[in-house]
Formats: sequence, C-alpha cells, structure tokens
Amino acid sequence: MSSKSVRHVQEHADVVLRTEGIVKDYGAVRALDGVDLEVHRGEVFGFVGPNGAGKTTAIRILLDLLRPTAGKAEVLGLAPAEGGPELRRRIGYLPGELKLCKQATASQLLSYYARLRNGRGGELIKPLARRFGLEELDRPIRTLSEGNKQKIGIIQAFMHEPELLVLDEPSGGLDPLLQRELLDLVLEAQAAGATVFMSSHVLSEVEAVAGRVAVIRQGRIVDTEDVRTLRHRAGQHVEMQFAEPVAVEEFRGLPGVENATVKDRALTCLLYDEPDALLKVAARHHVVTWSAQLRTLEELFLDYYRAPVEKEAADAQ
Ligand code: ATP
Repeated sequence: MSSKSVRHVQEHADVVLRTEGIVKDYGAVRALDGVDLEVHRGEVFGFVGPNGAGKTTAIRILLDLLRPTAGKAEVLGLAPAEGGPELRRRIGYLPGELKLCKQATASQLLSYYARLRNGRGGELIKPLARRFGLEELDRPIRTLSEGNKQKIGIIQAFMHEPELLVLDEPSGGLDPLLQRELLDLVLEAQAAGATVFMSSHVLSEVEAVAGRVAVIRQGRIVDTEDVRTLRHRAGQHVEMQFAEPVAVEEFRGLPGVENATVKDRALTCLLYDEPDALLKVAARHHVVTWSAQLRTLEELFLDYYRAPVEKEAADAQ
C-alpha cells in the first residue's frame, strides 16, 4: 500500500461523522445548500448558527429522520439510511424538540429505551436522574415541567454510554446550574472516548466544551474552525484616553487596527494580532488610561451573522 493510501485509510478511520454536499429542500424552501462536515473521533464539535440556519434539519438527516434532497452522509462509517437499529444503539440523540410518550412515567420510558438497546444503560438511569435532580420518575410525563422533560431527554441520550452523542440545543429549558452539569457530562463522555456533535446558539457553552465549531448560516457552512483560533480571531476591544485631543486619521489603517473612532480625547478600536503599531502611534501622545478586552465568541459570531445581511442590504441599494 502506498503511503498516500495508508494516510487515506487512517484519516477515514478517524472520521465519525461526515456529510458531503447535503442539500435539503422543503418544497420551495432550501433549508440546506451543500453542507460539508467532518467530525473526528473523540472531539466535541459545536454546530452553531442563528435560528432557521438549518441545524436541526442537518441533525435529523444524520439520524435518518429526514432524507436529503442531494448529497451524502456517513455516521460511524455507515449511511444513516442503512444503519438501522444497530447504528441507532451506538448513538445517543437528544432532539431539540422532545416528543415523549405522555402517558408513560419517566421510569417506564427510560427502561423501555434500555430494552431497545439490549439492556444497556438501565443501571445509569437512577444515578443520572439523581445528578440532574429528576425526582419524579414515577409520575406521568405529561405532568412534568419542560425542564424535567429535558432531563429525561438527556438521560436517555447518555445512559447507554454511546460512541457518538448528537445533541440538538441540549441546554434548552435547564437552569444555569444544570446547564453546567450537562457540560460536565459532555466532557466526561469525551474523556471516556465518545465523540460529541452538539448544536447550540448559546455560544458560551460551545466555547466551554468544543474543540472545533462549524458555523452555519442560511443552509451553508460559512466557517469550520478551532475554537482557540476563533477566539484569537475575535480580537480585542481597545480604549485609550489621551491628555490632549487626537486625530482618528493617525490610527485608521494601522496594521491590525479596525473600526477606529475618536471622540475628543478617547480612542476606541478593535485590535487583531500584535498591538505594536497601535502602541507606537499612541506613544506619540500622553496616554492617560488604556484597556484591552478580549472579545467573546458571541461577538465574533454576530459579525458572521451580520456581515452578509449588511452586504445584501448594500447590494440591494
Ligand atoms: P432553530 O435554531 O430555530 O431551531 P435551525 O438552525 O435548527 O433553527 P431548521 O429548523 O433546520 O433551522 O430550519 C431551517 C430552515 O428550514 C428554516 O428556514 C425553516 O423555516 C425551514 N424548515 C424547517 N422545517 C421545515 C418544514 N417541515 N417545512 C418547511 N420548511 C421547514
């Protein structure tokens, strides 16, 4: 075997989830427009985008709950439509909108899931319920609050310790303490060897657990990136106060400096990369105060979401 084909086999073995050119039309609505994703074994992969971007549609295709109009998907080495129950047992899926059998109790439903999975996970129902404070295991699900229903969803996704977790907006309906608990559970699953694919628009939670993220907007992946790189790319907010008025022209166009504005004696700008050029120009003046604050991923994503909308508006003029 040549070294090239060995590398190909190794890369392939490492891929747990892949989509190639997935298109999904709902009638005249194109929900997905050529989605390419590749998730590797052992990573927590964030799938982020605004409402209506296509996250749930893509996830449902991975689970064979929807069929794509075009393109290919592969989950744990199999086409979702061909994997059948055997493939489903290897996946823990938490849907964005849970549809639980309302007459059953949590305990009955979770035991049913364990039976579907050849008995796997039954012993984890109680510890997970305790951990998430789900006490009403014997009440009909229809009488439970939304948060408690979400806990049932989380337990059924994690209880059989699947190789792959697919979580669609997992923290919906949970209070901040339990959101943290869920993130801990995600990291524990990863430490035990699982791969996690998680959609969210709560960017702080993606930042807390994901190694890489894909950003989807209007059915297209606009970026796939390492979280650390993204954080770096998000830049910093810089503010400086000078002893005397300064001219904005001095700062505009400096390497790494964007959106420079001056109000009387105060400069604000965004700084990407090294501060050297900015500091050298600032040092020509008497600097009274300065602050530099890292921007959050939230702010970076707002740039992503806004930029094309603003471009479309400009193009329309
Ligand atoms: P959210 O974060 O709001 O859940 P999402 O990123 O999961 O959004 P999807 O639910 O996948 O987005 O929706 C993608 C697009 O497809 C949206 O424009 C939505 O209105 C449309 N869509 C979704 N389901 C259907 C359907 N059954 N029939 C018609 N259009 C649909």
